[in-house]
Amino acid sequence: MYYGFDVGGTKIEFGAFNEKLERVATERVPTPTDNYALLVETIAGLVNKYDAEFGCEGTIAGLVNKYDAEFGCEGTIGLGLPGMEDADDGTVLTVNVPAAKGQPLRKDLEAKIGRTVKIENDANCFALSEAWDEELKDEPSVLGLILGTGFGGGFIYEGKVFSGRNHVAGEVGHTRLPIDAWFHLGENAPLLGCGCDKKGCLDSYLSGRGFELIYAHYYGEEKKAIEIIKAHAEGEAKAVEHVERFMELLAICFANLFTATDPHVVALGGGLSNFDLIYEEMPKRIPKHLLSVAKCPKIIKAKHGDSGGVRGAAFLNIKN
Ligand SMILES: [Zn+2]
Repeated sequence: MYYGFDVGGTKIEFGAFNEKLERVATERVPTPTDNYALLVETIAGLVNKYDAEFGCEGTIAGLVNKYDAEFGCEGTIGLGLPGMEDADDGTVLTVNVPAAKGQPLRKDLEAKIGRTVKIENDANCFALSEAWDEELKDEPSVLGLILGTGFGGGFIYEGKVFSGRNHVAGEVGHTRLPIDAWFHLGENAPLLGCGCDKKGCLDSYLSGRGFELIYAHYYGEEKKAIEIIKAHAEGEAKAVEHVERFMELLAICFANLFTATDPHVVALGGGLSNFDLIYEEMPKRIPKHLLSVAKCPKIIKAKHGDSGGVRGAAFLNIKN
């Protein structure tokens, strides 16, 4: 059994997945706000609860032997969270889960549960979840990109997260605008700040929030992305101009990322990934920004939506 935890700012979602990668249990509990001991206790408690249900002493007698042979009696444990572990001392770097901030969460969970625990950034878990989708699982590499409140992603190579020296691989939102994107935005280009204290991070341009910020910059009106998309569908001039500008910006920035990673498939998640025009426009616009030998990879909408975090966390332990 694979256990996954998606640890967010307000709730912890637990999922258990069988050897066919089907979800067989789900539970959501509130995230302890500032109480680290309670956070460790909560996660360990869920592991114990579902061990009792699925493990060797479990009630699903017919399945026990099969799990026993493949996994042992206990579920493997993976955690996804909005942040990452410090590469040297293993403490958690996060702002959204204050209880875990600066704490050696993996070490403490392993001591408490007596089992190996894997921790990954939630964007990497999203990408891993998509890479293990039935249709993509034979693809050698998958780049997952999230166009949500922020812009982030994860790179999956042969079914595993490529996390890098500092666990920051895939933090594409904190790479800066390429020069041709800057020229594309013109003389009145907005120089947007970022939560990481740098200016010009892709996070501020390509996210759903960025889509709104760019509109506000050029037209002096604050509109929600969904309103802009609706106005675009109705042919409203400013929205049409904005979407044209944004699609080309997205194509330039995506092409740079594709040149660096050359993925076989790209899966897009987050609210703005529901804008279907992206899937029509990118294959037309991206090739001219790639090296001439490169083809544009297949770009698809993520299939696992909100459950991606917990699926990917669970699949951190898949051995392939
Ligand atoms: Zn940044």
